[in-house]
Amino acid sequence: MEVRVDNEVIELSGRKLNEIKKLYQQWHTSNRQQPAIIECLCRGRYKKNNPKLHVMKSKTGKYVLRNNPNNQENGLEHDFTCTLAIDGFHNLAHHHGIKIDDEQNIECRMNFKKKKASNKSRLSSDPNKSRQKSGSSITFGNSSLHTLFYTLLQQQRFHQYRPRNRREVVKYLYASACRTTVNKEQLKSMIFIANQGFNVGYRQKLLIGWGSKEATFDRDESHNFLVKIPLFNLDNHEEFIDYVRVPDWKYKEALDSCRIHVKQGYWVIWRDYEHKDDRFLKVEKVIFVPAESDSKIPVESSYEEAMIQYLVKKRRHFLKPLIGNVTNMFLDERPDMVLYDTNPQTIIEVAGMKNKDGYQKKLKQKADVYQKRGYRYLEWDGAESIETLFNK
Ligand SMILES: [Zn+2]
Repeated sequence: MEVRVDNEVIELSGRKLNEIKKLYQQWHTSNRQQPAIIECLCRGRYKKNNPKLHVMKSKTGKYVLRNNPNNQENGLEHDFTCTLAIDGFHNLAHHHGIKIDDEQNIECRMNFKKKKASNKSRLSSDPNKSRQKSGSSITFGNSSLHTLFYTLLQQQRFHQYRPRNRREVVKYLYASACRTTVNKEQLKSMIFIANQGFNVGYRQKLLIGWGSKEATFDRDESHNFLVKIPLFNLDNHEEFIDYVRVPDWKYKEALDSCRIHVKQGYWVIWRDYEHKDDRFLKVEKVIFVPAESDSKIPVESSYEEAMIQYLVKKRRHFLKPLIGNVTNMFLDERPDMVLYDTNPQTIIEVAGMKNKDGYQKKLKQKADVYQKRGYRYLEWDGAESIETLFNK
């Protein structure tokens, strides 16, 4: 990310941590005669009225760059992908039980064991950490496997498609895993990412592979209740890597919770020890995350898949937010995709529900919000060809 401090543009990404620490220290009010004027340049260098930032010193003595709380009321707005935006991705992830700290480390808990919510566990957990309802099988303060997977991708900005970049998802996932701890254990030492030369081992808790949800899978030869899900190489979808055996009801549960008509995607499996001294991991959760095959970006409908396929074919530069609304600009709106290679940028809303009452009105409201903010707005209902939409 870029900032401007007292009229000098400074790029912070790619710098070493101690370098950044030094800069923050210099910008902190206690170390200078006049307060530094720090602007966030997330919308580009040449925009006026950039949101202001300040350096805060935490209780532990760490310097942290923060958003000025009065930016919004002063009409100084961040780009909606900016991590310093009030309702930015990090904040949203936090609501789902995933903590991303100022040094970009990810931390969460994963526990699918059924457990009565005791008073003790309620008191000890931070109520802001999660909005999980008590009484579900997920313990209070937990995060979902879905959110963790999306976070791993979004944290490395894999949801951004640049035509010249190689889409090596294995690398991206591993880079994220190296900065992640789950249940206080380092994720990099317990993750299996399906790629050449690796097999599913006995100790890996998080398994991620490419696959199809519509194939019929064989059952384990000696344990008939186990379905053998084939995991394919994430970067080469033709290459079979290994099987993972999961109880058939967990497999069916995964299919039931993913009803959209997109065949390809990620198998994401969480395993854990049922009891402390167990020797073998037990499959606790299986999910299928449908995704567009070329970009490997997760999608929520077949229309989204078609739109991404089109944008990839046309070599466009775009972004598809995975976690949330990612913005304090758009309030409750949730843009499906954003094109970066138009001026102004173009918001794409993939509708596909045109006939429903009230939906039309809501879309109109969205269009107004975007246009008022200076974005172009395109809306696709799935009826006309995408080609026609772009040639309008
Ligand atoms: Zn910003």
